[in-house]
Amino acid sequence: MMSTKLRVEQVRSLIIDVVHTQPDEIGCDECAALLCAYAECCLLGSPASEWTVHVEQHLAQCPCCRQEFEALLVILRTTVEEL
Ligand SMILES: [Zn+2]
Repeated sequence: MMSTKLRVEQVRSLIIDVVHTQPDEIGCDECAALLCAYAECCLLGSPASEWTVHVEQHLAQCPCCRQEFEALLVILRTTVEEL
């Protein structure tokens, strides 16, 4: 009985470790909300911060958002050149 309890606690601490080493990976909703600001940051060459890293990470693994991002970049680039 003691050993079973220990194992449960070990597993629980392992799960906590995983959650802490892989902090809040964002989903498509969060990505869409940040995409516009992220595209602006890319064009302006702003330094990467915690949230831009998350967007980058999501774009790398989500072709759908990546496509949206590239379309947004084209639009923003045109706007910047017109200014
Ligand atoms: Zn996505």
